[in-house]
Amino acid sequence: MINEILQCDFCSMPGPIWRHPARSFIAYCAPDVAGESVGDWAACDQCHVLIEADNRSGLAQRSLDELILKHPEAIAAAAVLYKDLAELHQRFFAHRSGRAVPITATVA
Ligand SMILES: [Zn+2]
Repeated sequence: MINEILQCDFCSMPGPIWRHPARSFIAYCAPDVAGESVGDWAACDQCHVLIEADNRSGLAQRSLDELILKHPEAIAAAAVLYKDLAELHQRFFAHRSGRAVPITATVA
């Protein structure tokens, strides 16, 4: 059963099916943005494939595409957002603490 409240931490799609263990870290310094990445990251199947393939540019591009889909006005800042997302993902990769596990297996 997929938990529909969860969303993919990379592209914000509902119903992520993978959990990527990671240590908590401070993600942003900007005061108006959520500041901390706490623990594991949820990922949808498509982001999971990109993560496993270590396709970081693909992952950042996918996150940006999904963001712009939801917030078309964000396209004006696309270059900056891409850089921010790539940096955030970079820190995720640096803080990974184990292999991905299916979310379905840990809910029960
Ligand atoms: Zn995703």
